Amino acid sequence: MKRVAKEKDRTTNLPLFPEPLEVPISTPSPVFSPPFPPLPPPPLPPLPLPKLPWVRQPSPKGRVQVKQGWTVHLNKKVDLPIAEVRYSKRRTLALVITRDARLLVRAPMRTTRAAIDAFLRAKAHWVLAGLAQMGERNRRAQAPVMREGTVFFFLGKPVPLVWSSGPGLPLRLDESRFLLRPERASDGQALLQRWYLNQAKTLFPMRVQLYAAQMRIDPGGIALSKARTRWGSCSRQGVRFSWRLIQAPLEIIDYVVVHELAHRQVANHSSRFWALVASFLPDWRARRRWLKEKGASLFSLEAPL
Ligand SMILES: [Zn+2]
Repeated sequence: MKRVAKEKDRTTNLPLFPEPLEVPISTPSPVFSPPFPPLPPPPLPPLPLPKLPWVRQPSPKGRVQVKQGWTVHLNKKVDLPIAEVRYSKRRTLALVITRDARLLVRAPMRTTRAAIDAFLRAKAHWVLAGLAQMGERNRRAQAPVMREGTVFFFLGKPVPLVWSSGPGLPLRLDESRFLLRPERASDGQALLQRWYLNQAKTLFPMRVQLYAAQMRIDPGGIALSKARTRWGSCSRQGVRFSWRLIQAPLEIIDYVVVHELAHRQVANHSSRFWALVASFLPDWRARRRWLKEKGASLFSLEAPL
């Protein structure tokens, strides 16, 4: 399977969270609405952080200083904890929101605390929105627990996990259940990801060939990625898909396939592009909506690649 160089990707990627939903969520269409597991309950509001003492960490070679245990009084309602302030030779102040929704500050050496506090107050809106967004993203992408009864999805169908000590592979699909040896529970996620990846390696090239023939488009090489932020991409070398899509219904996989194949002909998202997609998938809007609404739930497994 040909791998496509990442740097060569054009800007024809299908973003995970592109724009706000166009249509309010009404009763979901039966075709594209497999019973995805309900989202886990929202996390409890964070406990008020204990007031940590001002910590000064040893700075390697004296070029970087890290301080922790800092809270900024943003406004009347919000006291914002900063996970870390890192002083270095940089020239400007910068704020970073990590994937696990923590706020980091990067500052030039000798920036005063007052200057950092003022900067944060000026950026309060951005910071709070960013933390909320990242927290929500984490909530949706919480890793599932490998235990009996946990429901996974394969091609949009729910597949519960059950223990099985029988012969054969440590993880296998039996009719509509994943059978996992109980002693492999600890690496069950890795086994499951590899299983998904193998299925994707078989299925995706088949769907690409099917639609490429209909559309009379040369797909180029076909590659899989572990991308968390895009479903597919297209480059001069070929098309690339996130293996995670194998959890989605076939209609959704086909939409991403047709989308990327269409990009082999039209590089942008112009009306000509959508007309091309529509000529092969008249209901592409419903399929795209599925991805927007439910796609995040496909990202809960760690990447095996
Ligand atoms: Zn696109």
